[in-house]
Amino acid sequence: MTINGSLLVAGTEKRGSNGDFYGIEAATGRSLLVSFGGASPDDVEAASAQAWEAFACYRETDLESRAAFLERIASEIEAIGDELIVRAMSETGLPRGRLEGERNRTTGQLRLFAKEVRAGRFQELRFDEGDPSRKPVPKPDLRLRNVPIGPVAVFGASNFPLAFSVAGGDTASALAAGCPVVVKAHSAHPGTSELVGRAVQRAVAACRLHPGTFSLLFDTGFEVGQKLVADHRIRAVGFTGSRRGGTALMDIASKRRQPIPVYAEMSSINPVILFPNALERDVESIASAFVSSLILGAGQFCTNPGLLLAVDGEALDAFVARTAELLPEVAPQAMLTPSIARAFCEGVERLRAHREVRAIASGKPGSEFEGTAALFETTASALLEHHELQDEVFGAAGLVVRCRDLGELEAVIDALEGQLTVALFVSDDDEADARRLVPKLEILAGRLLVNGFGTGVEVSPAMVHGGPYPATADGRSTSVGTLAIYRFLRPVSYQDFSSTLLPGVLR
Ligand code: NAP
Repeated sequence: MTINGSLLVAGTEKRGSNGDFYGIEAATGRSLLVSFGGASPDDVEAASAQAWEAFACYRETDLESRAAFLERIASEIEAIGDELIVRAMSETGLPRGRLEGERNRTTGQLRLFAKEVRAGRFQELRFDEGDPSRKPVPKPDLRLRNVPIGPVAVFGASNFPLAFSVAGGDTASALAAGCPVVVKAHSAHPGTSELVGRAVQRAVAACRLHPGTFSLLFDTGFEVGQKLVADHRIRAVGFTGSRRGGTALMDIASKRRQPIPVYAEMSSINPVILFPNALERDVESIASAFVSSLILGAGQFCTNPGLLLAVDGEALDAFVARTAELLPEVAPQAMLTPSIARAFCEGVERLRAHREVRAIASGKPGSEFEGTAALFETTASALLEHHELQDEVFGAAGLVVRCRDLGELEAVIDALEGQLTVALFVSDDDEADARRLVPKLEILAGRLLVNGFGTGVEVSPAMVHGGPYPATADGRSTSVGTLAIYRFLRPVSYQDFSSTLLPGVLR
């Protein structure tokens, strides 16, 4: 397979003429061959126009053909073989095992959506029979189905180069819903993006779909992504990244003549609540499980535990002391991009310099492209006073918050921003206190877990990977699991239609 730096616009490949850039080897900062050409405004126009044209027929594909297309994408990705893993390893610094697992997750979720499409439940067919004899007014005949929302712009995520990028969860769920997709590749892994983009393009051709069903664009700045979100033919956006990037796109989308939904997953520090009895009983294993979760993927998961809340006392002292023994043994890890490594380093230094924060321990130092794990502590009253202590530091950094009692811990929960996950460590003796907190936690986050950390995200029908702002732009949605398809659908009701006029599934 070749990576030649081309844009993939609706079944064609062409060299972008709007500046060049290179993929960067994450571990060294060196440029990788080949260069990629940025898309011009004309390329964005062509991709959007083709997506709109494709929408007219792709939305009408029968469920079996659509499912077969998703399965074909999965097998085309597998057929790329080791080249995909090798390229992704050098562009992201992530290890082979993690990327092979991520490839399985990517193909697994495409196949899961294929199953979901065949089952057809997402159409939400409803039949509400009319009654012409009803008094005082006749009851209309109403039938409802979900229809696809229109072409979707997907921004590949830096931290999941396969499972949340070109053919990741946003693309799979949009295509499953019947929406063509235009992907803006993440500049952190352009070669990986091109390889997967070509696989999707081959699947489009093999399934004889309209070529505009899929396009892949590169950008040397923010112009392409912004133009895409502003384009009147794009009807929804899927995004994972920074709060600044997500809110910039939400702003553009809301100022359009026809505003559109932006499903942006942005920032979450995933609080962990250590209840007193659980901590007392199991300090050793909770501390080592916490450190493993903190450093997983160099802390570059959306769900890494960044905030620990616990009642002050001997058990918490023992927990802090154990983490202070474990962390210095942790090796530095390459971060996804030099700029993410820089942002992490700055975030850690901000915490270190904060007058209300004390450093507990750090991992082994590394190069400028690596992240060194770091753990800090503060008090509940400081966290309540200094809102900036809630800011996400993307990478393996955590903040332990000492609370006077459970009442103060509850006050911290009330003051937190929206989150993807909240984890509770409880023993039987803590259950009554934990139960009292659950209604507040439901307001705070999209996924609540007991005696575990949220870093692993199962792709399944009952998964929610979403949460109130700023965890996501719209806390009613999830970007992982089969419910993700509903982001790209909207209901249409057909009143008093003759059976010949009705869409087939509603007859
Ligand atoms: P990012 O800077 O928000 O970039 C994400 C995507 O949006 C990229 O394609 C980027 O283009 C584009 N973009 C960013 N700002 C834009 C703007 N104003 N207008 C149009 N497009 C824009 O996120 P990132 O590069 O993945 O990581 C940077 C930071 O994001 C991290 O340090 C971390 O704080 C946060 N992050 C959070 C999560 C999470 O799940 N919580 C996940 C990943 C990252 P380019 O490709 O040209 O940069």
